[in-house]
Amino acid sequence: MRQIAIYGKGGIGKSTTTQNLTAGLSEIGKKVMVVGCDPKADSTRLLLGGLAQRTVLDTLREEGEDVDLNYILKEGFNGIKCVESGGPEPGVGCAGRGIITSINMLERLGAYTEDLDYVFYDVLGDVVCGGFAMPIREGKAKEIYIVASGEMMALYAANNISKGIKKYANKGGVRLGGIICNSRKVDNEEELLEAFAEELGTQLIYFVPRDNVVQRAEINKQTVIQFDPESNQAREYRSLAEAIEKNENFVIPKPMSQKKLEEIFLAHGLVEQVV
Ligand code: ADP
Ligand code: MG
Repeated sequence: MRQIAIYGKGGIGKSTTTQNLTAGLSEIGKKVMVVGCDPKADSTRLLLGGLAQRTVLDTLREEGEDVDLNYILKEGFNGIKCVESGGPEPGVGCAGRGIITSINMLERLGAYTEDLDYVFYDVLGDVVCGGFAMPIREGKAKEIYIVASGEMMALYAANNISKGIKKYANKGGVRLGGIICNSRKVDNEEELLEAFAEELGTQLIYFVPRDNVVQRAEINKQTVIQFDPESNQAREYRSLAEAIEKNENFVIPKPMSQKKLEEIFLAHGLVEQVV
């Protein structure tokens, strides 16, 4: 069972990418569970057809520990198992702590069945708060992919996440499997991301184009793979799934200084130099 965490700054496309790529994995017969680790609890919406789902933390609060697994785990597209960790009450408690509580509860209830090929954790944030490092800190997910784009803040977050991974790599054995570029159609984006990944000591594992079919599918509460299986974007997500399935490039990342990050931008991105 490969346990994979998907990190990246908010709004970069983690949930969209995770659900489409797991839909792709399910099509080639892989058994997958997706655990949403974002208090927004929208990590499995496209797989479940928008079905409102009880989060693990809400259930714990309202029902106590004695709950049925079927109450918090729902099967979505192609039998993909979907769980939402949920968040603490707004303004109270640490969301990262909640993620681990959820994972522990899933373990206790027997969610991690032998037949699973993959468990994906869709994790909010850029590891500024230690709480969101929980899945890697506690050794649950050993394999990480970072979703980024050619925008400065996305790469800044990706670099920060790499610092978090490096911190736990020696102790917990967590490794970076690559950067997934979710394109924002920035000039020279692929080249920029290639250079960034190389500097980190990893690879650009896939370049996902920006395409409005993603929005059309989203309005219909579906992945692109379900909504328009013949579309070019559906093929892209299948190729991403295949790249992850075949990946053997796992490293301890080498985070860079802010200065180096800016240099890479100037060399490859189209940042106008202010003189
Ligand atoms: P995150 O989970 O990182 O916060 P989301 O997956 O919710 O981000 O994506 C944010 C928005 O970006 C969504 O509304 C989604 O439709 C859009 N989006 C994501 N990926 C793409 C893409 N490749 N092409 C077009 N729109 C995209
Ligand atoms: Mg999300």
